[in-house]
Amino acid sequence: MTGTKSSSEPVHIIGAGLAGSEAAWQVANTGVSVILHEMRPQRMTDAHRTDGLAELVCSNSFRSDDAANNAVGLLHAEMRRLGSLIMRAADANQVPAGGALAVDRDGFSASVTATLNEHPLIEISRAEVDGLPPADWRNVIVATGPLTSAALADAISELTDEHALAFFDAIAPIVHKDSIDMSVAWFQSRYDKVGPGGTGADYINCPMTKEQYDAFVDALVTGEKTDFKQWEGNTPYFDGCLPVKAYAIVQLRQDNKLGTLYNMVGFQTKLKHGAQQRIFRTIPGLENAEFARLGGLHRNTFLNSPKLLDGQLRLRAQPRLRFAGQMTGCEGYVESASIGLIAGLYAAADARMQSLSPPPPTTALGSLLGHITGGHIETIDAGPRSFQPMNVNFGLFPPLASAPTKNAEGVRLRGNEKTVARKQALSARALTDLDRWIADSLRIPAAA
Ligand SMILES: Cc1cc2nc3c(=O)[nH]c(=O)nc-3n(C[C@H](O)[C@H](O)[C@H](O)COP(=O)(O)OP(=O)(O)OC[C@H]3O[C@@H](n4cnc5c(N)ncnc54)[C@H](O)[C@@H]3O)c2cc1C
Repeated sequence: MTGTKSSSEPVHIIGAGLAGSEAAWQVANTGVSVILHEMRPQRMTDAHRTDGLAELVCSNSFRSDDAANNAVGLLHAEMRRLGSLIMRAADANQVPAGGALAVDRDGFSASVTATLNEHPLIEISRAEVDGLPPADWRNVIVATGPLTSAALADAISELTDEHALAFFDAIAPIVHKDSIDMSVAWFQSRYDKVGPGGTGADYINCPMTKEQYDAFVDALVTGEKTDFKQWEGNTPYFDGCLPVKAYAIVQLRQDNKLGTLYNMVGFQTKLKHGAQQRIFRTIPGLENAEFARLGGLHRNTFLNSPKLLDGQLRLRAQPRLRFAGQMTGCEGYVESASIGLIAGLYAAADARMQSLSPPPPTTALGSLLGHITGGHIETIDAGPRSFQPMNVNFGLFPPLASAPTKNAEGVRLRGNEKTVARKQALSARALTDLDRWIADSLRIPAAA
């Protein structure tokens, strides 16, 4: 995307979360001005607590940072090469988490807020967009996320003629570290993995005997749950984020830079708060735990994107509206930010009256975009629509022309070695293809 012409009209971005913040940064860095509309603190969501941009509403983890073996780690690497603000702020605010990239949530949000506030081409408007954007906003990115305010969600649902835009997602409790009994619990990472920012002993582990575990599961099952609100009654669950999985050791992950808060990863639940405190305090080591936050389930909003959006994330029914972030049917902080990144590049190209070729389908970014805008196969079953939010994963990538069968020494690969070699080959191909796309289409220098 090169050229000198630029429309004088700004790009309007609605929602300054993970996707909207990244999109604003990408647009403004091409020389196009941005008006970024954020409703907080004037109107809050059920999950956001602050007025900070790019607030992380639950976990503080960007998941694996392993670019060679893990699809989300690869997406991190691709975003870094594309000059991502979200990745820059994450790297600058990293806290230890073994092989994962976890961040100090306040420091992370403060970095993003300060950078966007200081950008000369970005104006931040603190107001809710409470219906369809005015007709004279001709280049718009809607990045209002899973908790899009009702007025805007209703207007979009009317425009798209879609009745179901929602499902349930969950948040995990957070415990104050100094209330954990460390004579029972201990520090250890999964597989003792040191990772880029850890020590090999980053998680707090609380052990349970079989009897304790069985009693705990019984308590969870019989504990008092919150009722669904009337409008939530028919909302399906998202399978990737269901409550408590069956582990005999409960692992808590550091949640802030100071190391004073620990996240009960995987303990998303709709138990009432009193029941949560009672039941979680039966976990050895957590008998006296103080909770900074308890778990909960929330409504979530997303579009039936393969049907409603074109390949550049524009609403077919009204192409001036482009969508980004979790609303498009990706899942996760990193994925949401990455779709904000590509939506920003497309919007900037439109503003500059340029065309931008799509990112190669062999990249993590391209494969995720492909899934959202066309890769999904609609099932023919009656019932809820089959398109569901998706984390990036190697299953979305086109297969290799030929899968590796031997290692560098020429020895035939066996079992799991083949899977590892395949992932590594997919990652290497992705980064080569991304660099070529950057050089050919964006003409910005690739980062080292
Ligand atoms: C409860 C919950 C827990 C989650 N936990 C995790 C997790 O642990 N890990 C993970 O990777 N992902 C998690 N997700 C999923 C998802 O990755 C995050 O929600 C992510 O923040 C989505 O990014 P986004 O930019 O699309 O939306 P958001 O980051 O939510 O940003 C949307 C922004 O739009 C603003 N907004 C909404 N409506 C309007 C309007 N009408 N006008 C102006 N502004 C508006 C909001 O205030 C918000 O700032 C969770 C989601 C939810 C709902």
